[in-house]
Amino acid sequence: MSSVATQQAPASAGFEANLAKTKEILQRIAGEFEPAVFASSLAAEDMVLTDLILRSKLNIAIFSLETGRLHAETLGMLDRIKENYGIEVALYKPEAAAVEEYVQKNGLNAFYDSVEMRKECCRIRKVEPLNRALDGKKAWVTGQRRAQSATRAELHVQEDDAAHGMQKFNPLADWSEEDVWHYLRSNNVPYNPLHDKGYPSIGCEPCTRAILPGEDVRAGRWWWENPESKECGLHVVDGKLIRIKQVS
Ligand code: SF4
Repeated sequence: MSSVATQQAPASAGFEANLAKTKEILQRIAGEFEPAVFASSLAAEDMVLTDLILRSKLNIAIFSLETGRLHAETLGMLDRIKENYGIEVALYKPEAAAVEEYVQKNGLNAFYDSVEMRKECCRIRKVEPLNRALDGKKAWVTGQRRAQSATRAELHVQEDDAAHGMQKFNPLADWSEEDVWHYLRSNNVPYNPLHDKGYPSIGCEPCTRAILPGEDVRAGRWWWENPESKECGLHVVDGKLIRIKQVS
């Protein structure tokens, strides 16, 4: 199914139950895990969580990783959020010296050369800034969904993130893509215009392409690699997926 068709599909039968559960989880995070943060990639799922957090004025700070390689449309979402909700998303950027060294040694787009080169670029531009953003926090929240890809099939709503020494919450783990779009449209939530151009999943500009009808929703991310290696390192350790313990 193409992303545009998915955007126009009705919500699933479980939508209301999923929404109620997500609201309850977010309330619990804000109440029991201060300080908690939400890592927003500014994509559709993240706008659902942004809206839920800000509408209810929940005590969960929102930040984004500004890798230096994002689409102009993605960066434009920062202004849309400010216009809509009156808040500035905190930005975490890579260390300039590390980026300079990588580019000088390997070239600006060396991530196309090998999985190792790609992971090193992600480490510098995403993983290290994420670690800084999570420093001193009790919990973090992501917009990941189980149905997004093979690498997310085991995703749980609450996980023990041993790598960061805190709880990690994926409140949209059970949501379908149709439910995400139903929420955005029925609540007039702003979203990244790239979603209307065939980008269901959006990352850095040189590593993301539009997908064709029938392709997997994450087929446009690092499309030159095998599906099993397609994570940016934010949810993996030492190049491997973390088999995180579920917390009931
Ligand atoms: S997604 Fe691409 S450009 Fe962005 S940090 Fe990873 S390898 Fe680098």
